[in-house]
Amino acid sequence: NTNISGTITLKDGTAVTKMGQGTWNMGDSSATRDEEIAALRLGVELGMNLIDTAEMYGDGRSEEMVGEAIRGIRDQVFLVSKVHPQNAGLDRITRSCEESLKRLGTDHLDLYLLHWRGKVPLEETVKGMEQLVASGKIARWGVSNLDTADMKELLRIPGGDRCAVNQVLYHLGSRGIEHELLPWQRTHKIPVMAYSPLAQAGTLRKGVAENETVREIAEKHGATPLQIMLAWSIREGDIIAIPKASSRKHVTENAAAAKIRLSEEECWKLDDAFPQPAWKVPLDMI
Ligand code: NDP
Repeated sequence: NTNISGTITLKDGTAVTKMGQGTWNMGDSSATRDEEIAALRLGVELGMNLIDTAEMYGDGRSEEMVGEAIRGIRDQVFLVSKVHPQNAGLDRITRSCEESLKRLGTDHLDLYLLHWRGKVPLEETVKGMEQLVASGKIARWGVSNLDTADMKELLRIPGGDRCAVNQVLYHLGSRGIEHELLPWQRTHKIPVMAYSPLAQAGTLRKGVAENETVREIAEKHGATPLQIMLAWSIREGDIIAIPKASSRKHVTENAAAAKIRLSEEECWKLDDAFPQPAWKVPLDMI
């Protein structure tokens, strides 16, 4: 990769790009599929070589589309998929993973996440994940949508400390994790992977992209407000963001956002416009 925009290091020493690519709602329509594939491939070329998908997305259609996009470039990609909580027990996790691998056209995942906590005991999921590691089907595993209490429980389970990341909702308009979960994860060297870092192009939280402070900062950087939101999400250097973009134009902008450095003063201004909550709030999720 000629354009790597900066990496963070996982607990096991693996370097991962700070700006990856999400794929929720991609692969659903034949009218847009070619452009989506071109966008993902361009993203990899531009250094956004982490691709996030899930068995749940479009009932496997996202994984199939990703499989097509990474054909011939699999070795350049850090591939992430997720197991549905219903399939996260020992009876189903191996089959779910194998079906994901088949759709993705690969023999291993770089990271496999529990999509959210369901009824299966965490202990059983950890066992299943470790078996998948042992069989070489996944290189490592992590979780998603777990709040601090769940994470503490996970780390008390034998092998639970091998959790590589926790993927949670995080954007300028939703900073709840900064109060407790993010500092806790920092202490335990479990990076946050920020989903919906663009607040779904501003629609999850109205007013972020239109905010006067965000617009002023964007103008100063010759950037768009959404690029400022992305640059902000990875400003500390230890968070991975996975914006989803289905066009080459958006992918190019998102790759460029990884290079925007916000000054301390700009971060303070954004803190004033979008303060972090003063107390613990429940984990925001979609
Ligand atoms: P994002 O915050 O990434 O926003 C995606 C939206 O922003 C799309 O409408 C996209 O449009 C638009 N967009 C992207 N780049 C630009 C740009 N440069 N300029 C203008 N608009 C832009 O939302 P997601 O919810 O998709 O989150 C990202 C990824 O995180 C998901 O795709 C998925 O992989 C993961 N995720 C995980 C969850 C979990 O439970 N673990 C839950 C939700 C998301 P367009 O498509 O037209 O480019």
